[in-house]
Amino acid sequence: MTEHRYGLGDRGPAVAEIRTKLVQLGILPPTEESTESAVDAVFDQRVDQAVRQFQQQRGLTAHGVVDSETYRVLEEARWRLGDRLLSYIAGHLLIGDDVGTLQRRLLELGFEIDRVDGVYGPKTEHAVKEFQRSVGAPSDGTCGPATFKALARLSPIVTGGRADALRESERVHRSGPRLPGKVVVIDPGHGGADRGCSANGLSEAEIAFDLASRIEGRLAATGVRVFLTRGRDASPDEATRARFANETNADLVVSLHVDEHPNPQAGGVATYFYGTAGSDDDMRSTLGERFAGLVQREIVARTDLRDCHTHAKTWDLLRYTQMPTVRVELGYVSNPGDASRISDPGFRDVVAEAIVVAVQRVYLPPDMDTPTGVLQLGELIR
Ligand SMILES: [Zn+2]
Repeated sequence: MTEHRYGLGDRGPAVAEIRTKLVQLGILPPTEESTESAVDAVFDQRVDQAVRQFQQQRGLTAHGVVDSETYRVLEEARWRLGDRLLSYIAGHLLIGDDVGTLQRRLLELGFEIDRVDGVYGPKTEHAVKEFQRSVGAPSDGTCGPATFKALARLSPIVTGGRADALRESERVHRSGPRLPGKVVVIDPGHGGADRGCSANGLSEAEIAFDLASRIEGRLAATGVRVFLTRGRDASPDEATRARFANETNADLVVSLHVDEHPNPQAGGVATYFYGTAGSDDDMRSTLGERFAGLVQREIVARTDLRDCHTHAKTWDLLRYTQMPTVRVELGYVSNPGDASRISDPGFRDVVAEAIVVAVQRVYLPPDMDTPTGVLQLGELIR
């Protein structure tokens, strides 16, 4: 399937539909001339601005182009709680802002939701059933008018603090600092026919796979069970990779990429975790943020890559994985300095060690944690 992309200067019915969605969301002011036919609808400067604003709110890359990902998130954003029946459908999960509102509401009422992600999965269904039972309604796990009404009637018991954040860190605390028995999924980006970024003789798919193997060896030596999302020549899509991580019941996921840019000066390492930077709709994985911060700081402390910091994003892999996931963009292959570092096997070893140390530090209680850049592999807790 070819991907449709709409941006500045495009026109036609699809642009009209995009504009309507932006108007409904209150991001784009309605146009005066409502007589304009859909064929003449133009993707003008104002639409471009509105799309960028929407992308920024939603943790997408703010490039102003409506690609399939932005289109999907636009589609999800239009649902308000009560607009449609909500239920768990295996293989065809309902996704939307209404599901996010439902999850937040259930959390406030003290029901167990791992993460407010807007996806109606089995855990959300379970929480809905518990809720229905608690109000003496038939517990079918389907949210219809009666359930919406019951939800609206009850006032929250959790005030202040974030219940899902507490629950996430509680689980880490319970699992203890020892590494053996933990499961980590390593996700080398791209692969197969998809080579990813390439410049200065480097291919992203190959770098990612090589780095994954180096991390795999080191983690396995500490007793961690390690799984890779792909073989050398395969290229599963992001949702398939996320499903794989969920099925292995991984504790953590590390996704490996490198970046490129037309400007050869652009360089450095950045890490990403699940979340949006929005104000009141603040959906984020607190532990994912902490893990990403640890990976970022350990790499920056042990290498001379420029620090491009840690950022919240809603990319598919970050969103659909049920555990803390970090995506590392390890330098720019288009930057001669970064490229020569990345092609050095010694450098890749240092990065692999930095990531393994970050995994350990997720599980160290504050009184056992060490300063960044000093923990050695031999000191990891077996
Ligand atoms: Zn990539």
